[in-house]
Amino acid sequence: MTYRAPVSDIRFLLDHVVGYDQVAATERFAEADADVAAAILTEAGKLCDEVMAPLQRNGDLEPARLENGVVRTSPGFAEGWAAIAEGGWVGMSGDQDYGGMGLPMTLAAAVNDMMSGACLSLQLAPLMTQGQIEALEHHASDALKELYLPKLISGEWTGTMNLTEPQAGSDVGALASKAEPNGDGTYAITGQKIFISWGDNDFTGNVCHLVLARLPDGVPGTKGISLFLVPKYLPDEAGNPGKANSLKVVSLEHKLGLHGSPTCVMQYDGATGWLVGPEHGGMAAMFTMMNNARLGVGCQGIGAAEGAYQHALAFALERKQGKTAGAETGTIIEHADVRRMVMTMKAEIFTARAIALACAVAIDMGNASDDAEWKSRAALLTPIAKAFGTDIGNEVSQMGLQVHGGMGVIEETGAAQYARDVRVTAIYEGTNGIQAMDLVARKMMDGGDAAMRLIDEMQAQAEKARATLPELAEPVWDATETLRETTEWLVEQSDMTDRFAGAVPYLRGFARVLGGHYHLAAAMAAPDSPRAALARFYIARLLPEHGGQLAHVRAGAEGLFALGVDDLAA
Ligand SMILES: Cc1cc2nc3c(=O)[nH]c(=O)nc-3n(C[C@H](O)[C@H](O)[C@H](O)COP(=O)(O)OP(=O)(O)OC[C@H]3O[C@@H](n4cnc5c(N)ncnc54)[C@H](O)[C@@H]3O)c2cc1C
Repeated sequence: MTYRAPVSDIRFLLDHVVGYDQVAATERFAEADADVAAAILTEAGKLCDEVMAPLQRNGDLEPARLENGVVRTSPGFAEGWAAIAEGGWVGMSGDQDYGGMGLPMTLAAAVNDMMSGACLSLQLAPLMTQGQIEALEHHASDALKELYLPKLISGEWTGTMNLTEPQAGSDVGALASKAEPNGDGTYAITGQKIFISWGDNDFTGNVCHLVLARLPDGVPGTKGISLFLVPKYLPDEAGNPGKANSLKVVSLEHKLGLHGSPTCVMQYDGATGWLVGPEHGGMAAMFTMMNNARLGVGCQGIGAAEGAYQHALAFALERKQGKTAGAETGTIIEHADVRRMVMTMKAEIFTARAIALACAVAIDMGNASDDAEWKSRAALLTPIAKAFGTDIGNEVSQMGLQVHGGMGVIEETGAAQYARDVRVTAIYEGTNGIQAMDLVARKMMDGGDAAMRLIDEMQAQAEKARATLPELAEPVWDATETLRETTEWLVEQSDMTDRFAGAVPYLRGFARVLGGHYHLAAAMAAPDSPRAALARFYIARLLPEHGGQLAHVRAGAEGLFALGVDDLAA
């Protein structure tokens, strides 16, 4: 099966659904007009198809391994990284002053999506580095920026993020790593970090770790955490990798999937680090990296779904089994249930991709205009883009496996790899449960204003569509009204347990309604086309799920704790 990067689907979304023209109309991104965007996507698509996709199976079959304390990467990954770096893709949205392309986040998100469909485990390396570049651009001193940014942006060095410790997963504030001032402006970092993606490699000159640790006067919890840049090799006078720092990779995790990405246990023993951002301001600085990475991880889910979809479709077009009256090809694609699966996969990928790109457009508009409404739109959509994108990655890849029948669980077909590789995306970068809690708590601290503004826009579009596409406009309008009522109910709940009890169904219901909105936009832009037919399928068959999800939200926490711990164990 050959992967083909979904360039035309993404271009359609940019041109007709998520309003990329607004980004290109800003002064900051004036150079990235529709033609430039198309050229960039085409070029990135070639890299995905020709260089990255052939590495997908290598990562799974010959995982990264630890050899005498050094990570040895899967065959071909070094060449893959070199091609990504040479194309300028690591620093595509990086600051031009440091060698980046300065392109909008929307294009970076699209490229991340396409690269994830080609080879998820390799794509995680540039994704981590991009997050670090953004954090340094916003929070590092000029000296650190000048030394590190050009090397990270060019791909000469890579970046990682180090939050997690055995006792500090979702609860980052429980971390125990320590930082002591050395008296010369540097700090000595000591502690153990687990699950560090791409914590080492054998293809770049240096690996730069952003590490969260607590200074001696740091208070307990997240408020006492600071952020440090800790390179594997200490740069010498000329800025080249010099003496080895006091850190090491202790072991690599044996995982369900994503075998090509080394997941490292890292040990820091008084390693030299430099402060990024103010003392005790580590979480704010790390949030820059995490927000970028949250959207990026959402795109990983979408990309993996795309890969799984293409794989399953190719199988369904060839596999002959059973006869259906009036069948054209005699293959399983003629069966109604197989059609249900592939149509669902295609419609869900469209939905999740539209949400992610709309989120990226809001980020770009917020950055280009400093407009508070765009910023709150981006903040609202980020947890939805992350959680829905990765849920769809999991659901679609499972469906892809099902399309294969028994061959789905036979590793040679590659269908199972998509499902195994994408599984963790719903867990890392903040579990999807934590994303949903962010949506119903922090993102509703404005009393639901940002959500209501988006609902208003969705209703305005549905009103507009009533004249020409009433059978699509009507159910979408009704769904937005249910979302409005549920959001009103949600913000009235002062007991946070009532909100949290329905957080995941609220995020899911919100995404479902957004899907109706974006599919309707596609149908309006291309009536009587396959895109309109897909919108009909989505609105008739998948959109109704919002009703059940949002009813679940309004049930609050009542009954959730009705069984005691003993009852649960009985
Ligand atoms: C392959 C892989 C790569 C990773 N890469 C990195 C990396 O590069 N850098 C890094 O720092 N970390 C990384 N991680 C760590 C990852 O971010 C954490 O695993 C994740 O944040 C969850 O933490 P945890 O595993 O401790 O689960 P826990 O926090 O123990 O969560 C267990 C369950 O409880 C739920 N839960 C926890 N707290 C709450 C709460 N307050 N309210 C409701 N539910 C809650 C969770 O949603 C989850 O379902 C990686 C993990 C993996 C598996």
